[in-house]
Amino acid sequence: MTRPQPLESYTWPASNEELAARVGRRASDMIRFDGNVPAAPPASARPAALARALADVNEYDRSRHEPLRRGIAAYHGLDVAQVALGAGSDEFIVLLARVFAEGGTVATVPARSYSMYRYAAIMAGATMVEDPHSADLVFVCRPNNPTGELPDVPDVAGQLVIDEAYADYAGVDALARIEDGAIILRTFSKAFGLAGARVGYALASPETIDVIASRQAPLSVSTLSAALALAALATPPDVSGQVAERERLARELVGLGLVPLPSFTNFLYVPMDNPVELVERLLPYGVVTRAFVGGWRVSVRDEVDDDILLDALRAELAGGTTASELVRHRRATAETILTVRLRPRGEGRVFVSTGEGFYDHMLSQLAFHGGMDLRLEGVGDLETGDHHTVEDMMRAFGEALDRALGDRRGLARYGEARVPMDEAIAHAVVDLSGRAVAEIAIDPDPGMATHAFESLAQTARITLHVTASGRNAHHVAEAAFKAVGRALAVAIAPSGNLVRSTKGSL
Ligand code: PMP
Repeated sequence: MTRPQPLESYTWPASNEELAARVGRRASDMIRFDGNVPAAPPASARPAALARALADVNEYDRSRHEPLRRGIAAYHGLDVAQVALGAGSDEFIVLLARVFAEGGTVATVPARSYSMYRYAAIMAGATMVEDPHSADLVFVCRPNNPTGELPDVPDVAGQLVIDEAYADYAGVDALARIEDGAIILRTFSKAFGLAGARVGYALASPETIDVIASRQAPLSVSTLSAALALAALATPPDVSGQVAERERLARELVGLGLVPLPSFTNFLYVPMDNPVELVERLLPYGVVTRAFVGGWRVSVRDEVDDDILLDALRAELAGGTTASELVRHRRATAETILTVRLRPRGEGRVFVSTGEGFYDHMLSQLAFHGGMDLRLEGVGDLETGDHHTVEDMMRAFGEALDRALGDRRGLARYGEARVPMDEAIAHAVVDLSGRAVAEIAIDPDPGMATHAFESLAQTARITLHVTASGRNAHHVAEAAFKAVGRALAVAIAPSGNLVRSTKGSL
């Protein structure tokens, strides 16, 4: 027997670490507009969602993830016998080529589609053909990757597989075709935001599911991934914000002379002659996009990230200037997962959402009155109270601020502000000293205000003096957060080119 040789196969784009090294940036600065996944995980993806699965991680799931299969069936109004689970829908693409086209023929609709279909055909020793009517197996990518279009589903003689990885964004599906023998592929990687968990599924008639399942490894989805998928299914994604953002991004691109095709997905495809050059020009901005033959594809992320893409495009194509640098920071512990995007001298564009409404509001006040752009999102273990969440949101913010301040060169260093709020009054004094000192006197403290400022001072490495008093604890805290914001704005204002210390460093 001859030894098997490697096949032509799917190649992943370079990692953040590799790309960052090429353009002299940090890996955490790289923004992936090449993966067609949401900018953040779903709120349900928290350590607590995994606790039960971890407690039993020494065991096999003898039910073969029945709760998840039942949940998926109910989500689509199907019977549990019509669901097969796999490690991503890619598992099914490979498997179905082997099952239905071993040594035979495979076609795709549209003709230019997701590259995995061809690699799956290669693995099955099958040949790609143009005409779907003459193929043993037909993959219909609906909506299509990479063009974003929504093709019609043809009537064909061979086995029909309708890949609906992006169907949530289109708002239409072809589930009705199951009755005619079609197999539908779905995934938790896209609208559900769980690409790293690798969970996909096939929907088909019970007989076809038996055919598929009998050729799978006995249990290819881990209990941890199944737990994340089940948790996500409890609050299915609302993609309306993404769809609106897609249309905004499309309009902005048109304004730059880049005209995308109409899209039914979470990405945009712009036909162009030399997309590789554009991809390369955007990399130094930390913007990672993807070139195809004859076109350029960008994922729709969220407003903050998409604005960075647009800034980079303006700078490259229209001679614009980019906004000052945005610091991206993630803080993940067993108790909280928080993502921070911060531009300390911004325009007061602020969004803070951890689920702890009062302190979300307080930190928003601080950032807004500090003239910052801040987007801080995530989840904490609020079932244990607000302590971890408030502490960690302030720590995450402080860490991002510390990074943004760098060696603190060229900044005023000191700042002071006094802010009233009805009967309450607060006074804050800040020194970007590089030393973590907090002298806080807040009376009455609504609960976590003192500790919040201590956490900020520690992580941002600043000296922070705050006094605040009044009758209403809400007013007292609000005055204090605003005062700290205003004092910070003064301290981080540009001032010469010096590190403001006779020691020469802070
Ligand atoms: N189908 C299409 C059309 C895709 O674009 C992708 C991912 N890029 C997949 C399937 C595979 O997704 P997963 O294996 O993560 O479910």
